[in-house]
Amino acid sequence: MDLKNLKIAFYTLGCKVNIYETGVMENDVVSLGAELVPFTEKADVYVVNTCSVTNMADRKSRQILHRAKKENPEAVIVAAGCYSETGGEEALSQTGADLVIGNELKKSFASVLASYLEKGTVPVNPEIGKVQGYGTETLRTLPVRTRADVKVQDGCNQFCTYCVIPYARGRIRSKALPEAVEEIRVLAGTGVQEIVLTGIHLSSYGKDLVGTETSLLDLIKAVHEIPEVKRIRLGSLEPRIVTEDFAQALASLPKLCPHFHLSLQSGSATVLKRMNRHYTPAEYAEGVALLRRYFKHPAITTDVIAGFPGETEEEFRETLSFAEQIGFYEMHVFQYSRRKGTVADRMKDQVLEPVKKLRSEALIALRERMSEAFEQSLEGETVEVLTEEKAEEKGFLSGYTKEYVRVLVPNAVGENRIVRGVLRRENGKNRLEVTDGEAEHL
Ligand code: SF4
Repeated sequence: MDLKNLKIAFYTLGCKVNIYETGVMENDVVSLGAELVPFTEKADVYVVNTCSVTNMADRKSRQILHRAKKENPEAVIVAAGCYSETGGEEALSQTGADLVIGNELKKSFASVLASYLEKGTVPVNPEIGKVQGYGTETLRTLPVRTRADVKVQDGCNQFCTYCVIPYARGRIRSKALPEAVEEIRVLAGTGVQEIVLTGIHLSSYGKDLVGTETSLLDLIKAVHEIPEVKRIRLGSLEPRIVTEDFAQALASLPKLCPHFHLSLQSGSATVLKRMNRHYTPAEYAEGVALLRRYFKHPAITTDVIAGFPGETEEEFRETLSFAEQIGFYEMHVFQYSRRKGTVADRMKDQVLEPVKKLRSEALIALRERMSEAFEQSLEGETVEVLTEEKAEEKGFLSGYTKEYVRVLVPNAVGENRIVRGVLRRENGKNRLEVTDGEAEHL
């Protein structure tokens, strides 16, 4: 079975896990002889790796599928991913998709596609909620060589009342530690310097690996031992994972980036309860205080939902003042999106759209102030930047510090280099003053 002379184009929506999975699917079809082409070009097969985290994501997934079919009626259109799990047969058939691939079958995408093209075999997607064990999934190469999102965990058992992800991704499943480490070793061997450990509920890593006593911390330590890996960044974390031991252990790992995305969702204890989130604002603040005790200047980033069902003006004010008290570097603001089949969708006192909009605007304004304050606080500090690509600003490359702050670096340094220097902030932009020791790069 092969895919020789076939042109295949991929389009990815959503999170780092989806980006990783597209990379694996691309590796696999190329290994069977296919050629990858941009989604805007003529192809025999168009694959849309869909997202279903909000209504907007569903709508975007349908639009791209529909457009791909309309513009390429002869081509095979594949709907893959979370919307394939949540969208339902009727909605998916209306998009014009020829093939529907759920999240589990992505792992064998190339052979599923080959047997469909050769024999017309329509794949049967396993019921995602019943899938057990991680299976085999390895990213071997990447088009870019600076940073790699590496998926090590799938599924979620939390069932936050507003979220469909557990219905699209199933129960928690972790990649065996030796497999994850070997995958990362090979990727780092291709020149990738920064590894982003990611998952659907990364904090659950290892909990399903019964009898192995493996935790996320064990994995981080094992990846830290790989010489070619220069930086380790963590994907979104559950606030409760931040204990004294966890923070202290992480602080002893110099490659670990002091950038922690702790998903808050609300700063009101009563709203958190209705969300089925199992921490209080006070406990969240304790975790942040721990990270600030063990790391010099960690970047704390988060997600917040505006307008959760029943959210009163007072509860919203609690969220706004709590976020200000924490002082986030980055805050992803979402207007609550009703998701069919979730507990919150059936709650009464749904907040009106104009109120959601006003509240999210207030959160966004706060975010701008907090981000500026954090970047200002780095002025004059010595930082380390991993250079990535040419910047719009002439003569400069852009790259990111370990805190994930974007910085301009002189072109002469070169791409995919780790360089140290003093951060200078001018006109809202960060520029690196490369220190002498680094001159040999110039
Ligand atoms: S932790 Fe909550 S918000 Fe995150 S994927 Fe799981 S159910 Fe969704």
